[in-house]
Amino acid sequence: MKRSSPRQPHHSFVSTIFLIRLFTSWALIPGLLVATPAIAQSKADSPTMTYGQLYKDIKSGQVKKVEIDPLAQKARVTLKGQAEDAAPKTVKLFKTNPELIELLKTSQVNWGIRRTSDNSALVNLLSHVIIAGILIGLLLMIIRRSTQASGQAMSFGKSRARFQMEAKTGVGFGNVAGIDEAKEELQEVVTFLKQPEKFTAIGAKIPRGVLLIGPPGTGKTLLAKAIAGEAGVPFFSISGSEFVEMFVGVGASRVRDLFKKAKENAPCLIFIDEIDAVGRQRGVGYGGGNDEREQTLNQLLTEMDGFEGNTGIIVIAATNRPDVLDSALLRPGRFDRQVMVDYPDLNGRHKILEIHAQDKKVDEEVELATVARRTPGFTGADLANVLNEAAIFTARRRKEAITMAEINDAIDRVVAGMEGTPLIDNKSKRLIAYHEVGHALVGTLSPGHDPVEKVTLIPRGQAQGLTWFTPDEEQGLMTRSQLLARIAGLLGGRVAEEVIFGDAEITTGASNDIEKITYYARQMVTKLGMSELGLVALEGENDNSLGGDWGKRSEYSEAIAGKVDQEIRQIIRAAHQQTHQIIEENRVLMDQLVDLLIEQETIDGDQFRQLVEKFHAKQQEKVLVMQG
Ligand code: ADP
Ligand code: MG
Ligand code: ZN
Repeated sequence: MKRSSPRQPHHSFVSTIFLIRLFTSWALIPGLLVATPAIAQSKADSPTMTYGQLYKDIKSGQVKKVEIDPLAQKARVTLKGQAEDAAPKTVKLFKTNPELIELLKTSQVNWGIRRTSDNSALVNLLSHVIIAGILIGLLLMIIRRSTQASGQAMSFGKSRARFQMEAKTGVGFGNVAGIDEAKEELQEVVTFLKQPEKFTAIGAKIPRGVLLIGPPGTGKTLLAKAIAGEAGVPFFSISGSEFVEMFVGVGASRVRDLFKKAKENAPCLIFIDEIDAVGRQRGVGYGGGNDEREQTLNQLLTEMDGFEGNTGIIVIAATNRPDVLDSALLRPGRFDRQVMVDYPDLNGRHKILEIHAQDKKVDEEVELATVARRTPGFTGADLANVLNEAAIFTARRRKEAITMAEINDAIDRVVAGMEGTPLIDNKSKRLIAYHEVGHALVGTLSPGHDPVEKVTLIPRGQAQGLTWFTPDEEQGLMTRSQLLARIAGLLGGRVAEEVIFGDAEITTGASNDIEKITYYARQMVTKLGMSELGLVALEGENDNSLGGDWGKRSEYSEAIAGKVDQEIRQIIRAAHQQTHQIIEENRVLMDQLVDLLIEQETIDGDQFRQLVEKFHAKQQEKVLVMQG
């Protein structure tokens, strides 16, 4: 039963509540029953009298009436001359009272035995029975529950099939854009599902599995649904992480169930999301081997091998980590087709935006091409998210239709997080302003740098201020001078702090910049052959330590490692000097720009460039005048 322990907390949580309820009612019921007569008695019996006094009073003929209660061992005594409504006196009796009975028999007193006035003994008995009953019931319940739980663990995989089935996905290729190559390759799969005869007639074997490889949000799930939709077949889906259960064997039995159901519904499409969760290379990677995962993976491989000929089932799996997949998965007859689903390019983003703008009210003046240009590196999911956020902004601002303003705000929000409230004008706001203007100015004055889009002091996410640049993505390759310009631009923030506020006042605000600077410089040295070390690749493509390959890093000697560090430092030092010079030469301009930024909160790229040009033109004039 140890295996079921991870599930236990759930069960015990439920039964604890149950126990608490039972115990409170148990405490309540007898309490009430016992309390009632006790209260009644204490009221009625208030005046008391001793046994001796009673004996004496009977003898002296002062007693009118005596009621004896043998169970409670009490007598209620009414004296002669006592007021009618006064309570009778209580006398505590012995277990047996032969002499009292004897005396009463010979006296004139009206006496008798009365048992009904006190039922506490009965109540006591009853409450005991009730408690015992409850305890027995509880015990039975616990026993039943534990046997049930073990039964559940046994039939787990079967009873809780976690895959979803959609008879009709309602999605077609028309809903997918920007990943045209993938779409084209998968067009064929639609035909396999629709008209398998076409292929089988000439003896072609239909592929069983297709692996979609791409970053999250690029539309892999959507694409798989579109294939099912286009082919008009049911869509079975499950996520790899759902296969990986704590019970060994559950994942495997889920795989079996899934394929069984699919076979009953063939032709159909099975979609396995996050297949890397089950399909990691066996026996390697962190955490060592994992019985459950291996069993699940083996079952998956068995099922895929077991399709007899052309059963009309096609398995599509998705991952963003193809490097960690077990090679057995990629062998012929399994996921032998691999389709890359990449980030959409400018044109692709435009088309994706068009799809998602269809069901929204978008103002006529909005140009989706411009939006596409502003969103390099966005996935389809990001773009869908941008338009949705823009629609929310529009509703909140009570506008009729989405305008460019909302879309821009939505992009900023998706990239950099929620907008915060700006700081009030103080020293730290000035410092942030100088830092950001430093980035923007050095970027603008370094040839080959991406143009500034805007500088802002409105905080977003973690950042107190932000400088946005418009990357030129169509370019593809980057030159050495462009890389150096980028490093200089990144240094601009920190160097502005140094020059304006002094070395003692520099802040932690540059940590992210420094990280990027180091990354670029390291790439230049170890991968791009752009340093004194020459044309050597010192780092492999994959330096991801979470994957399956430990110790693949740094295949070079300590001596080389020292030189790499030296070269990186050299690149950064040179860029730092250059940046320093730019900032020093433009101090006056910087002061003006910072004042304007603090006043306006945001300076957009065009205005920024105009101001820089005007300033430099004036300086040029001055120089000419001096010369003349
Ligand atoms: P993935 O499975 O690759 O992580 P999804 O298919 O789940 O990505 O994409 C999430 C959502 O993003 C989709 O439902 C769709 O609205 C949108 N989306 C993503 N890629 C595209 C695309 N290429 N074309 C249109 N919409 C897309
Ligand atoms: Mg997905
Ligand atoms: Zn910075």
